[in-house]
Amino acid sequence: MRAWLPRGLVAVGLVVAVGLPLVSHDPYLQNVLYLCFLMSLLAVGWNVVSGFTGYASLGQGAFLGYGAYTTALLALHTHASVWWFVPVGGVVAAVIAALLGLVTMRLRGHAFVIVTIALVYISELIAINWRSLTGGTNGLTLPLPTFGRDWQNTPFYYVLLGLLVLSVALSAWIRRTKLGAGLVAIREDEDKAVAIGVNAFVYKLLAFVASAIFVGMAGGVYAYALTFIDPTGMFDILFSVQLVLAALLGGRGSVWGPVLGGFLIELLDEGANQMFGNGQVHIVIFGAVMVAVILFLPRGIVPSIQLALRRRRERGTERVDQALDARVTERPAAPHEPPLTGRTLLEVRDLRKRFGGVHAVDGLSFSVQEGSITALIGPNGSGKTTAFNLIHGMLRPDAGEILLDGRRVERLPAHRRAHLGIARTFQLTRLFPEMRVLENVVAPLPRFSWRQLAADAVSGAEAGRARELLDFVGMAGFAGKLAGELSSGQQKLVEIAQALMLDPSLILLDEPTGGVTPPIVERMVDRIRELNLAGKTFLIVEHNLPLVAELCDPVVVMAAGKRIAEGPAATIQADSAVLDAYLGEDWNVDEPVEA
Ligand code: ADP
Ligand code: MG
Repeated sequence: MRAWLPRGLVAVGLVVAVGLPLVSHDPYLQNVLYLCFLMSLLAVGWNVVSGFTGYASLGQGAFLGYGAYTTALLALHTHASVWWFVPVGGVVAAVIAALLGLVTMRLRGHAFVIVTIALVYISELIAINWRSLTGGTNGLTLPLPTFGRDWQNTPFYYVLLGLLVLSVALSAWIRRTKLGAGLVAIREDEDKAVAIGVNAFVYKLLAFVASAIFVGMAGGVYAYALTFIDPTGMFDILFSVQLVLAALLGGRGSVWGPVLGGFLIELLDEGANQMFGNGQVHIVIFGAVMVAVILFLPRGIVPSIQLALRRRRERGTERVDQALDARVTERPAAPHEPPLTGRTLLEVRDLRKRFGGVHAVDGLSFSVQEGSITALIGPNGSGKTTAFNLIHGMLRPDAGEILLDGRRVERLPAHRRAHLGIARTFQLTRLFPEMRVLENVVAPLPRFSWRQLAADAVSGAEAGRARELLDFVGMAGFAGKLAGELSSGQQKLVEIAQALMLDPSLILLDEPTGGVTPPIVERMVDRIRELNLAGKTFLIVEHNLPLVAELCDPVVVMAAGKRIAEGPAATIQADSAVLDAYLGEDWNVDEPVEA
């Protein structure tokens, strides 16, 4: 598909939508279309918080109700034109979203879904019982439209069309910015997103607010068009389910999918009403559509088409090669002269963390000198990964101190520690599989600023730096691939490039050569050395002991959550406590490095 084709379709659709009331005065057609606009707009809003961010909300319809009630109440109490209060409905919905977000955005998974369902029911209960304000189940009757009757619903039609255009523009803009990239990162792997410096809480809160604002405004318009609102009509859980279905059918996570889905679901609803009346039949039909979407079209229509087109375009081009990129510029090995400065970069004091009865980390103390490549070794289950999680901030310690460059960090959230210069890779690589390799490497944020949120997700300078880093690890040829398509060794290399994007002072590598082919191990070791010579400090968990002996000094040995020894590899090898706990008799530092 040519690049202009989707734009052309959108332009034609917009021209038709704008022109239609001028050529046809069929009130039924206009009614159906403005309901389509409304459903699309709701689905687009939902998509920002649930499609981009991955937080499935079943309460999106409630914001329509808040907008409707706000606009209706203000219009009734002031006798000014209802239109004035449409934007106020949007603002109120956004403020409620922000307040709710303060609570709900700390929840994940099912807990979040349930709270959003509760939101709809609680809102309905409040609207029913706060009679003095809302009129209870009697509802509210708005002032009749002030424009002439021969206008029919045309003003509502245009205003909702305008709001739909604005909400699509907002969603498309978000998708293009750092904010959108951060939201997608949160959807793909929230802990990882935080680990590379994304302030997830602020991002999610903004997504929640952005998802509500135009929905609230649409609520005001909708109330005006209906001239009557009541709690069951405005806070109807089925309505929320319907808009979710629209977004799923069209394709969540894409900009245009929810628009298409909104039209399809509304037309289906209308068709069902025509055929079967206003009864319960359309619930059955929606149930069937839901099942069909989940079974046959889990990505939704628009992403499925995009995927098919991409497959067709890429057919014939080379498959993802398991071998390394041959174009990497090989560098001569520099003499190994560790750039030690004599300063302590990281200090861990009496760190403790237990999971139920397991003391995973049990009074661990050690330090990492600036400029060193320090190894952390120990038998499986001795607490190495947990120690990493504590240092990096994915877990909070039960007790103990962590100092980075003399500064206490153990109470700071992980994204702040990333900003302070701690980067890490994971034992099982955690790239964002649905993002391209280049987007993955560009995703880390070395600091937080409000202005940065609105910046382009991939700017020229950053892309340039990311390409350099990819070239550095020998993965430049894969920049355009989806990260999930790479082999595990390739992903490990990309994850190192990603960590380097933070320009960290301390790099934690959790088993960098685990499950990796020998050429990649070799490259990994070369690169670690080169980075170290350029001044980067490493803390490495590694099971390949000959490699540890060759690369690392000092070696810290853990057993049962404690440090049991520390020193140069040769000394460690001779330490009887270490031999008992871990190494056994047959470990020999003089063995050649094996992969
Ligand atoms: P290592 O990386 O040295 O193999 P880990 O830090 O992964 O060790 O695990 C140390 C101990 O803590 C193990 O007994 C493990 O089962 C336990 N553990 C680690 N993470 C968790 C968790 N999230 N919940 C419960 N137990 C855990
Ligand atoms: Mg581990």
